[in-house]
Amino acid sequence: MEKARITVFDTTLRDGEQSPGCSMNVQEKLRVARQLDRLGVDVIEAGFPISSDGDFAAVQAVAAAVRRPIIAALARACSQDIERARQALKGAARRRIHVFLATSDIHLQYKLRISRDQCLEQARDAVRLAKSFCDDVEFSPEDATRTDPAFLCQVLEAVVEAGATTLNIPDTVGYSMPEEFGELIQTIRQRVRGIERATISVHCHNDLGLAVANTLAALAAGARQVECTINGIGERAGNASLEEIVMAMRVRPDRYAYLTGVASEQLYPASQLLSEITGVGVQPNKAIIGRNAFAHEAGIHQDGVLKNPLTYEIMTPQSVGVPDSTLVLGKHSGRHALGLRCQQLGHHFERRELDEIYRRFVVLADKIKQVEDHHLLQLIRESCVAALRIPPAHVEAPARAVAASAVAGPNGGREYLQKPFPIPPATDLGPASLLRNSMAEHHCEQEDYLWGV
Ligand SMILES: [Zn+2]
Repeated sequence: MEKARITVFDTTLRDGEQSPGCSMNVQEKLRVARQLDRLGVDVIEAGFPISSDGDFAAVQAVAAAVRRPIIAALARACSQDIERARQALKGAARRRIHVFLATSDIHLQYKLRISRDQCLEQARDAVRLAKSFCDDVEFSPEDATRTDPAFLCQVLEAVVEAGATTLNIPDTVGYSMPEEFGELIQTIRQRVRGIERATISVHCHNDLGLAVANTLAALAAGARQVECTINGIGERAGNASLEEIVMAMRVRPDRYAYLTGVASEQLYPASQLLSEITGVGVQPNKAIIGRNAFAHEAGIHQDGVLKNPLTYEIMTPQSVGVPDSTLVLGKHSGRHALGLRCQQLGHHFERRELDEIYRRFVVLADKIKQVEDHHLLQLIRESCVAALRIPPAHVEAPARAVAASAVAGPNGGREYLQKPFPIPPATDLGPASLLRNSMAEHHCEQEDYLWGV
């Protein structure tokens, strides 16, 4: 089956930047825009030029520097806004003017204080004006999901007639439910004359945590452009998260047979860059790019992932640009994961030796939530010292273990560089041989799996 190509419209620099704590200066916006280009998005909404001189300058700078994607600028449905957008986009290789006007009665009555007829006329005139400057014109009926569907279709028909090439349906207040939103897209496809001349787009907010679900429902109903942001930032609870939409399509092509131009390995770098610039991190359990998204703590999960990542991972960390799975060592971790981490720290133990380390590890993990590498190194040292009954000062660290701890330690491992690991080199009397006779207890293999239930 041939896959439909979906246009990815990123609004991190416009809607995303409107979220508290996420404002960016021109240089910062440029850095994000360059990463969005590497990521392969089709459209970058770079700002709202009339809103401030800073926004104007940012749109201008992005338009000048980033040449592959279409650069969009937002404008209310009035001539000053559209003129300002046109000026800001002058230097763009590919440009789009994005005009919006609210269409719901509640917005018309209380915010704009205009009638439906006035709204219709204003939308049509604004799109005509934008079209006179630029072939690529997008129109958004703000608060579309709370607009009378008959009136919504009337406005959409008028703007298509006036030359709009993309009709964006925003769930501005994050009110819609997935089936309902899908039905609205279907209604628009059926009722709006000339709809085949335009691309249907959606722009979902996450007030009920349904932005991505609504976006996917809209794709199934025929939408072909998605508006989204990195890390899901945006007004209030945010926008639909770009990484979640893209990976839903990538992981489930059987349900969502769509293509995007996004290079998924650039998702994590994009997320990290945005967090670094704004100082706003993502929640640890955030899908795709959260710190714990690929972390496995339960013993049965760790054991499975080590044997074959597909047991508990529906996508690889590498596919979204995360360097590697993070095996978090905690009280639910099994012997297998512990053994691997010891190896990564330069210590290879035999089974019975590992049992002793594991016994001490479980006691420690019961006291502290997460066992970091420096804890583990300390624990190995104590085990070896107990076996040797000699003071730590008499022995030297294997270079490999010190190097590993320097990389892996929570504070850069510096304390371990200054205090070498007091274990004899493995070539001599290594920890493995020293521990060999001290292990009385042997833990049943089955124990690893009890934690994972
Ligand atoms: Zn929005």
